[in-house]
Amino acid sequence: MAILIFLILHWYLSLFGQTFYLHRYAAHKMFTMNKFWEKFFYIFAWVTQGSSYLNARAYAILHRMHHAYSDTEKDPHTPHSFKDAFAMMMHTKVIYNDVLNKRVVVDEKFDRNFPEYPAIDKIADSWYTRIAFGVAYTAFYVAFATHWWMYLFLPIHFLIGPIHGAIVNWAGHKYGYRNFESGDKSKNTLFWDILMMGELFQNNHHHAGARPNFAAKWYEIDPTYPIILFLDKIRVIKLVR
Ligand SMILES: [Zn+2]
Ligand SMILES: [Zn+2]
Repeated sequence: MAILIFLILHWYLSLFGQTFYLHRYAAHKMFTMNKFWEKFFYIFAWVTQGSSYLNARAYAILHRMHHAYSDTEKDPHTPHSFKDAFAMMMHTKVIYNDVLNKRVVVDEKFDRNFPEYPAIDKIADSWYTRIAFGVAYTAFYVAFATHWWMYLFLPIHFLIGPIHGAIVNWAGHKYGYRNFESGDKSKNTLFWDILMMGELFQNNHHHAGARPNFAAKWYEIDPTYPIILFLDKIRVIKLVR
């Protein structure tokens, strides 16, 4: 039971860090927040991603490229150029590392207006820290796993960020239905996207990239949107209207 709770908590907290902070805030600036909360959620996104930490600047740049070049050869992760999700993610990893380490020239329009905390990154992006998170996940399993097969879930914790990315980027541009003509191959994969907290409404999102609610029809549910409304109401963030 403890393992299941840990897995579910890790899945959703890191997914929230990704969709709320890296995607909707860092890449799209759908809302604003003061420096305290910006730093708070930067650390939140780091700690919940742990061993598979993603840098906000590199995430924002790659994601803005994804919107600008969706499903063309300049898209950092279109499923239509690769035989499987693993090959697509390995390609994305190369571009991510080049952007992160400033080894490629990035179009100026993508390379601005995102949170940057080099002092936090120095710790978060180090191998010592990543391995420490991996050891902590393993220690939790050693303490609480009651059957050998539970250890099969352990790799999900090590790679939680890329696993979310693989599901969204592969399924979200390949499987499902379309509400809008968007000039790319984006799809809405689930009617109620409980699994990926709204990220699987790729077609709705590519149609209206600045809209904080990824659900567009009355029967669609984006679970992150009510949280955004709540955080706006209690003035942690301010929605851009
Ligand atoms: Zn997309
Ligand atoms: Zn987006």
